[in-house]
Amino acid sequence: MSLNRAMPDLPCVRVSRRGAQRLKDGHVWVYQSDVISANGIPPGSLIAVTDEREKLLGTAFYSSASQIAIRLLSRQPVKDLENLIRQRMQEAIAYRERVVRNTDAYRLVFSEADFLPGLIVDRYNDLLLIQVLTQAIDAESVRAVVLSELNGLKPAAIIERVDPKIRELEQLPPKSSGLLAGEKISTTFSMNGVRFHFDALEGQKTGAFLDQRENYAAAAQYAHGAALDVFCYQGGFALHLAETCSMVTGVDSSRPALEVADQNAALNGREIEWIEGNAFDLLHDYSQAGPQYETIVLDPPAFAKSKKNLHAALRGYKELNLRALKMLRPGGILVSCSCSYHVSQGDFLDIIRAAGQDVHRNLRILEYRSQAKDHPILLNVPETAYLKCAIFQVSS
Ligand code: SAH
Repeated sequence: MSLNRAMPDLPCVRVSRRGAQRLKDGHVWVYQSDVISANGIPPGSLIAVTDEREKLLGTAFYSSASQIAIRLLSRQPVKDLENLIRQRMQEAIAYRERVVRNTDAYRLVFSEADFLPGLIVDRYNDLLLIQVLTQAIDAESVRAVVLSELNGLKPAAIIERVDPKIRELEQLPPKSSGLLAGEKISTTFSMNGVRFHFDALEGQKTGAFLDQRENYAAAAQYAHGAALDVFCYQGGFALHLAETCSMVTGVDSSRPALEVADQNAALNGREIEWIEGNAFDLLHDYSQAGPQYETIVLDPPAFAKSKKNLHAALRGYKELNLRALKMLRPGGILVSCSCSYHVSQGDFLDIIRAAGQDVHRNLRILEYRSQAKDHPILLNVPETAYLKCAIFQVSS
């Protein structure tokens, strides 16, 4: 199809052979270094992407500032952007209605994985939180469509959570987090029958770690005896473990996170011991005492933020797993997680295997899991698959 006939009004960006190949291979990003010509194209524009010979590859959002210059929206011409966004919002919402169970908190829109690159929307009971990650999604016309679709869900409030670093990287004017509709900023939500406090303007990410929701329930199935939740944040795993375990301890270095964790325990009528401290030091000390737990959860922050520190990250994961294995009694359960995209499934399991060998423990893998269904994965966009959660039983 001739470009001019297909997309008469859109600015056109040519990409290198490597960039074109990436799109042909099914990815949706083209890096700035593969952009040949984008002179004078306004930040955040909807663009036609072509190869070196000006053959149309698709329609995309353009960022003038990000390393990821192009995020593909469609392999077809797009005539009516607002309509396309509306349709994709509705599909994202309908998908959650089909697959999400036992919770009123989940991710409603997950950026590329819902074909809405740059937009994240989370639901926490009656509150909706949005995160705008790119110039294109920040455009008034796009925001208006997103808000009108979200208003249709009749939330008590819609709140924007701003990550100042992202706005800076996208060269967007600074902005603070706050209400976009309604008045309410805190609520309680529940997942798998466990209740949590939620304050929209506090905490990490957009609040809770929604991607672990199904893993909480899976871990609780096997958990028993004395349990330790390492890197517990606001108690996601610990509160679930408390359903089946005789004693639960949560460890985190963040006092504000533990304060909310304690309120969450009270909300559920549970007694959980919270320890504020460095997990590495604590595991180092506790593991000297040998086996003392039946269940241990390890859910550290992303150690490998980029490929550069992968090696150090793998060492960190190995140390944690090795110490946890020393502390488990025979028949005990290890729930080990990694949310670093750069740590592959293979690396992750290799490390735990090596840790098991070092401490002479046999590991039986009970479940190998990933992120909850409301965080879908695009097969051709490996970056959308980041969470690994493996559940093991220690047999000797
Ligand atoms: N398991 C949690 C999420 C953990 S996020 C859940 O399901 O909700 C990672 C947590 O690790 C954060 O709460 C952070 O405060 C904590 N953390 C980071 N470095 C730490 C360290 N060295 N020792 C203990 N906690 C740490």
